[in-house]
This record gives sequence, structure tokens and C-alpha cells, in this order.
Amino acid sequence: MVNYRFLGSSGLKISEITYGNWLTHGSQVENDTAVACVHAALDVGITTFDTADVYANTKAESVLGEALRGQRRQSLEIFTKVYWPTGPGGANDSGLSRKHILESIDGSLERLQTDYVDLYQAHRYDRSTPLEETMQAFADIVRAGKALYIGVSEWTAEQLRAGHALATELGFQLISNQPQYSALWRVIEAEVVPASKELGISQIVWSPVAQGVLSGKYAPGAPVPAGSRAADQKGGAQMIQRFLERPQVLARVQDLRPIADELGLTLAQLAVAWVLQNDNVAAALIGASRPEQVRENVKASGVTIPAELLVRIDEALGDAVVTDPAETAKSSPAAR
Ligand code: NDP
Repeated sequence: MVNYRFLGSSGLKISEITYGNWLTHGSQVENDTAVACVHAALDVGITTFDTADVYANTKAESVLGEALRGQRRQSLEIFTKVYWPTGPGGANDSGLSRKHILESIDGSLERLQTDYVDLYQAHRYDRSTPLEETMQAFADIVRAGKALYIGVSEWTAEQLRAGHALATELGFQLISNQPQYSALWRVIEAEVVPASKELGISQIVWSPVAQGVLSGKYAPGAPVPAGSRAADQKGGAQMIQRFLERPQVLARVQDLRPIADELGLTLAQLAVAWVLQNDNVAAALIGASRPEQVRENVKASGVTIPAELLVRIDEALGDAVVTDPAETAKSSPAAR
């Protein structure tokens, strides 16, 4: 079963393996497979689920809501996000304005078939809206009982500090950041993690398996496996390119096999366990196109990787690892 960790300095516990449905529900995978994945997650003790209004242009929230129907609400932690455009993409259909946030939460709650989400997250930083306006809108959502806690995604250390100060002033809890983090993508380590520790903010990290790349199934120079994200023409193939277009990445990943073998883990389990060694990480946010992947990856919960093997992982991956903290600021658009 899965271990729990506190989310930031709050009293909320979440399962350290959290299930997310980006690119899968309402898109790459059929609805019956999506439901089977959610049920596989519940069966192994995952209680925390992450989605966003923009995933499959709102369909992912509906699929997740349907898959969780009938479950005891108090036994689940349901997270969603707002920022990226949904609907016809009108002038106010994106960003973190008061209008877009207050309208979006109601659509998300309806699709998720719930009266509240446990965590409502700013999916990026909005450079076109005053931060005071955004944080006041989040404060009002918490006060209305539509979200219990507030989080953000891909904010820089400086943005986290400013947001946290306003949240404290307005009397609500900003407790999490959701960045990309994996053995291959470590850009949060230099600035975001130290600032977060100081502020009582945890990381809920996305793509811990680097979208499947760290499972080792993409062999250098070989055609991509059928049914994989890299073969998904509905969006996945484009998203995973950032890893596949760097040939040294795929070769380096194969060098991790002896290390995984020593620990009795698969490569995907090693990748998930790796992010959980960082104590500022509250959860590894895993995706799955089939239930077997959930059952496999969840076994990373509770694994300790000895220090000497962490060093060997660094040596094996070498210059395939990205560490530049400037990458975080590039995640949020300059304007909307
Ligand atoms: P992962 O790195 O866990 O990649 C998941 C994909 O990798 C699966 O769908 C599957 O794809 C493949 N895979 C997983 N396990 C295995 C295995 N054991 N063997 C072989 N292949 C495997 O995470 P995601 O990229 O899916 O992201 C996870 C979640 O993070 C999202 O659902 C979302 O909730 C969140 N996220 C947040 C973002 C943000 O901006 N805040 C951005 C992106 C994601 P396949 O079988 O199709 O090859």
C-alpha cells in the first residue's frame, strides 16, 4: 500500500503516489481503460487524484468524476487546476483573472461531480493579471468552501514568495507547487525547493517517469513501441519529443538498468522512487495508459535508494540531466 505525506505545512495528508490523467483520459485511452486505471489506483491505496480543466479540453475532468463516482468523498483528495484556455478561447477564457478563476471552479466542480476540491491550483503564473487580484479570487473560493487549499504549478522561487505572502495576509493556505521533476529534469533543486522549504510549501511533481522515457522502453534508434505515448498522435507524441529528440538521453537511461536490478526494481519504479527521496516532494504524480503501470509504479512507495546508488544514478545519466533553474521561468507565458 501507499505511504502518506503531509502537503506543505498543512494538516492535509496525500498519498505519495498520486494519479494524474493528462493526455490519457478523454484522449489517448478509451473511457473503460481510464476507469480501470482509476480503480487500479484505488485498489493499491492511492487516494489522491490530479487533473486540470484544460486536459482534453475539460473531458479529462468528466472522465475522472465518473470514474470516482460512488467512492466515499472523505477518503479522496481531488485536485484540479485553472489557467490554460478552455472553451472557445475567448479573451477571458484563460489566465488567473478574478473572472476566469471564479467561473472556472464551478465548471470543474460540476464535471468532477463534487461540491469542493481539496486543492485548486494555478496551472501557471499569469504575468498579465495583478497577483493581488488572483490571490483575492483564490481567497474567496476557499471562503466559499469550493476549495480547501490552494496550490500553484511551475512558479519560480520569487513568485512563490510573493504568492505566499499575499495568501498569509488574506488568511488562506498556499501549500503546494506542481513542477516537472525527475532524475532527468532537476531544475527545481537550486531555487524552488529551498524557497519552498522556507515557506512550508511541498512539491507535487509531474512526469516522474519522464513521460515513460525513464521506463527504458524507448530504445535508442529503434521505432517507438505501438500504443505508447510517443505513438499517440492526439498530443502525446508531440509532448514527449523534448526527451526523444536528445539521443544521448535514451542511451543514458539504459545505463540505469544495473542499478535498478541491484535494488530489485524496474526502471519505472526506480524513477518514481528517485523523486520520493527528496523530502520536499509530497507526491510523485504518475500517469498511466493501462492499469498494470499503476500496479507496477506504486511499488516505489517506501523504497529507500542508498546514497552510493544515488551517486551512480548521477554518473549514469551524466549530461542528460537538465538542472538550469532558469527553465522554470520559461514555463509560464510572457503574456496571455
Ligand atoms: P509519467 O512520467 O508518470 O508518465 C506516464 C506515462 O509513462 C504513462 O501514461 C505511460 O505512457 C508511461 N509509463 C508509465 N509507467 C510505465 C511503465 N511502468 N512502463 C512503461 N511505460 C510506462 O507522468 P505524466 O507525464 O503522465 O504526468 C503525470 C501527471 O502529472 C499528469 O497526469 C498530470 O496530472 C500532471 N502533469 C502536470 C503538469 C503541470 O503543468 N502541472 C504537466 C504535465 C503533467 P504510455 O504507456 O502511453 O507510453
